[in-house]
Amino acid sequence: MSSLLIRQARIVPVAGAAAPPGAVDLRIVGDRVVEVAPALRPAASEEVLEAEGRWLLPGLWDQHVHLGQWAANASRLDLSSTSSPEDAVRLVAAEVGARVGGAPDTVIQGFGHRTAGWDRQPTVAELDAVSGDLPVVLISGDAHHGWLNSAALRLLGVPPRDGVVEENEWFPVFARLDEVTQTAEGKRTAYAKVLGAAVRRGVVGVREMEWADNATEWAERSNSGLAVLRVRTATYAGGLAETIAAGRRSGDVLDEAGLVTMGPLKIISDGSLNTRTAFCHDPYVGTDVLEHPRGRPNNSPEELAELLATATAHELDVAVHAIGDAAVGIALDAFSHTGAHGSIEHAQLVASDDVERMARLRVVASVQPAHLLDDRDVTHQCWPDRADRCFPLRSMLDAGVQLALGSDAPVAALDPWEAMAAAVHRTADDREEWNAAETLTVAQALAASVDGATTVGAGSLADLVLIDSDPLAGADSGAEAAQRLRSTVVHATVVAGVATGATL
Ligand SMILES: [Zn+2]
Repeated sequence: MSSLLIRQARIVPVAGAAAPPGAVDLRIVGDRVVEVAPALRPAASEEVLEAEGRWLLPGLWDQHVHLGQWAANASRLDLSSTSSPEDAVRLVAAEVGARVGGAPDTVIQGFGHRTAGWDRQPTVAELDAVSGDLPVVLISGDAHHGWLNSAALRLLGVPPRDGVVEENEWFPVFARLDEVTQTAEGKRTAYAKVLGAAVRRGVVGVREMEWADNATEWAERSNSGLAVLRVRTATYAGGLAETIAAGRRSGDVLDEAGLVTMGPLKIISDGSLNTRTAFCHDPYVGTDVLEHPRGRPNNSPEELAELLATATAHELDVAVHAIGDAAVGIALDAFSHTGAHGSIEHAQLVASDDVERMARLRVVASVQPAHLLDDRDVTHQCWPDRADRCFPLRSMLDAGVQLALGSDAPVAALDPWEAMAAAVHRTADDREEWNAAETLTVAQALAASVDGATTVGAGSLADLVLIDSDPLAGADSGAEAAQRLRSTVVHATVVAGVATGATL
């Protein structure tokens, strides 16, 4: 079994558990920390990592990612700064001009527009007018709709229409997009790049919510050497029967290295704020153009409860996407009726009674703080009457809800330091913090980013991150704390006892 000695690390206290006062040596055998002492003698052929007084904490997790989409995003047009359909069409027209004479099967892809702030909905016709026969697929910043031109609708087998493809009709189209646009080799290179970057930021694990056969694909990727961090693979309802038939339960190991494990059944129970489909108790403001004034659920309460019951009967956790307060309430009803184990993903708008209920039911809040920076303005536009109940991170924590931070990459960058920074300083500009009472401290944000781990000690899993500065020194929240988190330099990351880093 491999053995690693980390010399002279200062252990950061996490989740309230005490740490040794000075620098210590740590011995790791296999995937466990087995010994912690002021000084340990290196064993023969033991690898040594000189920490030189750096700070050591449990490795970071991103609890909600779409890795394939995050990998593919590097080659997409960035539409995040567009503020109208005309803006987006202009960027596409420029790209079409640059592609003339290129491969005819190229699909022009863009990502990141947010239509909730636009004064009208985009049309297929206006994309057609600049793109001709080149397929164009523009993915919204929340990934809940695609704006396709006619050539792309044909290519992906979607019926003709005037507007966007959204929610349940869109998700399988989004999955198919990868199949038609990426070669296996291109995909592998793209994955290797984003996984390497994640490890260099101290990430030791992710929960993979991609629209794919994640369990099979990740076992293959790991067995061929691609997995350098832990991956917990979600399945959607479409893959549930197969998951059950294969006897896969949450926590089961799926690969040879033991890095890939079965994750939850993922259910997208409502839409999103930016597509104005998140399901709310109250109508969206300025809803005259909306077919569903309160947004809409993607499943009936009965269907949702049925899915949770089936998952629970087969020892699968569940991860229920619920953004609007009505959707969160229905999800909690389903947890309550079925005794399901798992999380609500996003929990962006929550009724105060439901915060308490989430704690009582021990449902984890899997939240993405970086979204609060992006969604602040659109919230004040669509939900001005309930903006004070958005991203209630501190309320949930104080009520006893377990928080688990993530990015929902590609919706936000796969960078836990960014997520923590947004949680401790809720503004992206010179405005006051948004719902300042909901701010977390650095210690709280860290505890919510390590998959339930506590202070590193003998017996800890050897998933670790060694950083150049003390994350807890200085202000515990606000601009300075956020800046400190964002600029953290990761010296080395240890995954299952194996160290990687700039100097290794
Ligand atoms: Zn997601």
